[in-house]
Amino acid sequence: MSRRILVLGGGPAGVAAARTAARMGAQAVLIDSGRLGGVSTNSGVLPARVLAHTARLKRESGQLGVYGLRATEAELDWPAALRRLFNVVEALHVRKEIAEEARKLGVDVHENVGEIRFMSPTTIGFANGTTVEGDAAIVCVGGRSRSIPLPGAELAIFPNDIWRMKAMPRSIAIVGTGHTGCQIASILAHFGTEVHMIDLKARIMPQEDELLSVVMAKEFAARGIRIRSVIDSIDGLSTGMSGSTVLHYKEAGESRSIKTDAVLLCVGWIGNTDRIGLEELGVEIARSYIKVDKYLRTNVPKLYAAGDVTGQMMLVSGATHEGHVAAVNAVTNAETKKVAHTLVPTGSFTDPEYGAIGMRESQCCDAGIDYETSVIWCEDLTRAIIDDRTAGFCKMIADRRTHKVLGAHIVGERAVETVQLMATIMAGGLTVEQVADLELAFPTYSAIILMAARDLKYKLDPEYAALYQSGMAGSPPARRCPDLLRPSDAVAPARKSPRRAALASTPCLPASTS
Ligand SMILES: Cc1cc2nc3c(=O)[nH]c(=O)nc-3n(C[C@H](O)[C@H](O)[C@H](O)COP(=O)(O)OP(=O)(O)OC[C@H]3O[C@@H](n4cnc5c(N)ncnc54)[C@H](O)[C@@H]3O)c2cc1C
Repeated sequence: MSRRILVLGGGPAGVAAARTAARMGAQAVLIDSGRLGGVSTNSGVLPARVLAHTARLKRESGQLGVYGLRATEAELDWPAALRRLFNVVEALHVRKEIAEEARKLGVDVHENVGEIRFMSPTTIGFANGTTVEGDAAIVCVGGRSRSIPLPGAELAIFPNDIWRMKAMPRSIAIVGTGHTGCQIASILAHFGTEVHMIDLKARIMPQEDELLSVVMAKEFAARGIRIRSVIDSIDGLSTGMSGSTVLHYKEAGESRSIKTDAVLLCVGWIGNTDRIGLEELGVEIARSYIKVDKYLRTNVPKLYAAGDVTGQMMLVSGATHEGHVAAVNAVTNAETKKVAHTLVPTGSFTDPEYGAIGMRESQCCDAGIDYETSVIWCEDLTRAIIDDRTAGFCKMIADRRTHKVLGAHIVGERAVETVQLMATIMAGGLTVEQVADLELAFPTYSAIILMAARDLKYKLDPEYAALYQSGMAGSPPARRCPDLLRPSDAVAPARKSPRRAALASTPCLPASTS
């Protein structure tokens, strides 16, 4: 008799778990309180990506003159843009037939069941009184936007509300300068919204490499986005004149406020661990996320968890991987597969795009690794010059001992795609010499990888390094941990273009490093 695996939540993690379980010959039961697809298809990734593309087209329509094309800038039709967004979501549901595909594999699918509750680790009760039982269960219920306990917090909106707004906000204050806040700021700025971003942190996207943060902040500023970093506190929200919302905060010891059409909170993502009976089962939960081991087991026997609800990756790729791993272990009822998350490309479809993989320079410093870096600016990339898309750079970090790539951080056109190539390179364990020898197509954006690898190849070559030292090979490479955040290090030493000069005066570097 095959094992029966209950999967709760039909986002990327749950669908992957149910499909893997069914493929392995188990009886998989997939239960979702709403529609399958999760945040990925229904309310997060897809809507953001659809609007990012519209924003991109709008921006490009305003730049046609650069390419010798006479046209006036396209005007945004907000209701039509939202109509397309929802049509794309529907089209994806129809095209991918998430539920049907799962059923074809033999998964027993229960959608739109409303509230559910764990009666035991392997028994789930539905609101209509029926129950389902299994041999093991996998919790894949995802998460939701975090709120903050502020006076007037109920006046704030969340990312999901953006695609429900009847009219595009003329102005917005975004609290939180992480990935989601930056994604929405970039979209709305291109639509013509006056965008303010505000954060207690010293730099935007603090989880990224310092250079990436600095360059993105500069590019955002050039697009009119106003960033206030290192503020003292967010103090509350209140209603202003004619339907506006006022955000109150303190900066440099002074009380200040911004009045906008909307205040958007992008201050984190919490696990949906409440209201399903996990506490009663004694499941260990930390900061709203289910605690799991490397086999994705919870502390309660027969109960696994995967995806955003574990608080580990918060990405579709990570959720899918975890769903698969949890299912393999649940079906085999053994320690068969460990969760990996070793090489996970990240990035976002902002303008300009950014992407990253592997270690940041500060992590290499902290780990005491002897490393070398190369920074190639898009201003020196043929394809970027052809397309007039010269914002950005590629920073590659390599281990001086093994010459293997430790990380790459990219800003610029198609950065997210380029970083995928880096993921393949790193997964293959290629050295910078092997990457430098690749014959990649020209002129392409991803060719920036070759330029960085070739630069690193010479920097890692002892003879060439000696030439660097003697000055015969040009200026020595800008370098090393304590100098990392100096603006001059973010600037290629040889030729200072206006963009590089602007970077040198960037205001978003921590004061201690200037
Ligand atoms: C605005 C935004 C943009 C994003 N952009 C990207 C991106 O570009 N790339 C990327 O990789 N990631 C992105 N993410 C993150 C990505 O959406 C998540 O990491 C991913 O969806 C997590 O998958 P999951 O299956 O763990 O959870 P979810 O996708 O959240 O799915 C959880 C499922 O569980 C169901 N559920 C919830 N509670 C219950 C319950 N009590 N009972 C039964 N079912 C329940 C829900 O209905 C849902 O279907 C973005 C997120 C947001 C918010």
